[in-house]
Amino acid sequence: MPTSLPPQTQSEVLSDAQAMALALEQARQAASLGEVPVGAVLLDADGRLLSVGANRTVCDHDPTQHAEIVALRAATRKVGNYRLPGASLFVTLEPCMMCLGALMHARLSRVVWAAADPKTGVCGSVESLHLHPTLNHHTRVTGGLMADEAAQALRDFFRQRREQKKLQKQGQQGQSLVDGAP
Ligand SMILES: [Zn+2]
Repeated sequence: MPTSLPPQTQSEVLSDAQAMALALEQARQAASLGEVPVGAVLLDADGRLLSVGANRTVCDHDPTQHAEIVALRAATRKVGNYRLPGASLFVTLEPCMMCLGALMHARLSRVVWAAADPKTGVCGSVESLHLHPTLNHHTRVTGGLMADEAAQALRDFFRQRREQKKLQKQGQQGQSLVDGAP
């Protein structure tokens, strides 16, 4: 599914909160496709929308299709440059090492994330690669913007998935009882 831009916001200058709200909308779209709900939004140096991205690792059978990478690829292709100096990325989950690396290579000026990821986050949770003194001097990374909403979307998604698996298991058990009946 190509990530389409909401037309009403393409020429507007977005605030941080507006950008993160849009990223949360992308996260909800990911969840509706059965993907872990993570969404990202890229703004150009003037604060105008460049691209959006939703996690699509399962749909694409591709572990690199995190929301940040999806948004980054859309933006760099649109601009025709693999670097996006001055651009800002908003993402609903703390970036992993793959994404942080890609965002640093793109020379973004700012990365803002919402919920912490204690399993793969490298901007303070598992590691603090964004603070490494020799790694990158272009990208400022901050976390915690609208963290509650983003974390709630993740909790809801995993709760629903657990419930679905439980129901499936119960259904299978019921079926095997029927099959085993004399
Ligand atoms: Zn990632």
